[in-house]
Amino acid sequence: MKVIEILDQATGPLISYEIIPPRRGGSLDEVLAVVEELMPFDPPFIDVTSHAAELEYEQLPDGTLKPRVKRKRPGTIGICAAIKSRFGIETVPHLLCRGFTREETEDALIELHYLGIQNVMALRGDAPNYRKPIPPDRTVNEYAVDLVRQITNMNRGIYLEPLEDAVPTDFCIGVAGYPEKHCEAPNLTWDIMHLKRKVEAGAHYITTQMFFDNRHYFRFVERCREVGIEVPIIPGLKILTSKRHLQLLPSRFHVEIPEALASEVEAARPEHVPEIGIAWARRQAEELLEAGVPCIHFYIMLRADYVRQVVAYLRKMA
Ligand code: FAD
Repeated sequence: MKVIEILDQATGPLISYEIIPPRRGGSLDEVLAVVEELMPFDPPFIDVTSHAAELEYEQLPDGTLKPRVKRKRPGTIGICAAIKSRFGIETVPHLLCRGFTREETEDALIELHYLGIQNVMALRGDAPNYRKPIPPDRTVNEYAVDLVRQITNMNRGIYLEPLEDAVPTDFCIGVAGYPEKHCEAPNLTWDIMHLKRKVEAGAHYITTQMFFDNRHYFRFVERCREVGIEVPIIPGLKILTSKRHLQLLPSRFHVEIPEALASEVEAARPEHVPEIGIAWARRQAEELLEAGVPCIHFYIMLRADYVRQVVAYLRKMA
């Protein structure tokens, strides 16, 4: 089933989850154990992130830095297929522009189509400091909008090379939105204009970057509606669970941590930080559900215990 149909047919609040593949060579059981823990909460769908190679620097004994391409976290498609077949839950594999050629993406989409996976999240990706060399006979998607166009074309039976009687795919396409604007965008208006292009290219829904102050989300939705973006906008939430998050989340994801949350976390003993983050996420989620959001999407990496405490609370409230 497509995410867009799940949202349309929902009779109560939906809570979805986003997990990451284990490190290269890690066990699938680790992922399936996380999903097992979420099963009592009937996940409507689960996203699985995708990861391109990154450039790392190894310090040599003489002090010089040796660059090394770090391949990491493969398995997005396999994990999606395993979750779907084991638990019957719809999955949303993430697909990236950066680090993948359009030809590789086409192959991945064919793979997904044959597996009966009907949803994809189309993203540009970052792949810090590393651009995979592209062979002369291969092409790349520069921005997420280009990837959305490629998927929309395949949904119309248009593959990269003209093919007779090509079978059209039928993907529901999600894209990313940034309530506090994407870090490279000069302003929110500019960013929303590019978001609108992704929707015009065929995206069916938007999932947002995490935010810790709901006002960012409400203002963002208002601005999107003003420019004619009409697709569902699913708020993404993350539970802050360590003091390290106070610096890590703003620097990596370019999101603001409100003063009230930051000062409470700073004053707390490290072992009490998860309680603070869970209480904050509960309040955020409650307010969003009261405002009638289509679904709440939790970024959980490979841990279900914190989010279970939030979702169990929301279930009692409902
Ligand atoms: P785009 O929509 O392409 O936008 C990137 C920037 O370019 C924006 O500033 C935009 O305004 C600008 N822009 C867009 N089009 C144009 C144009 N034609 N000309 C000039 N500027 C333009 N990363 C991963 O590596 N793996 C994941 O699985 C993953 N999952 C994510 C899930 C969600 C819900 C979110 C919010 C982010 C995720 N990311 C993931 C991070 C994402 O890849 C980065 O934020 C990336 O920097 C931008 O991706 P995008 O798809 O939003 O890019």
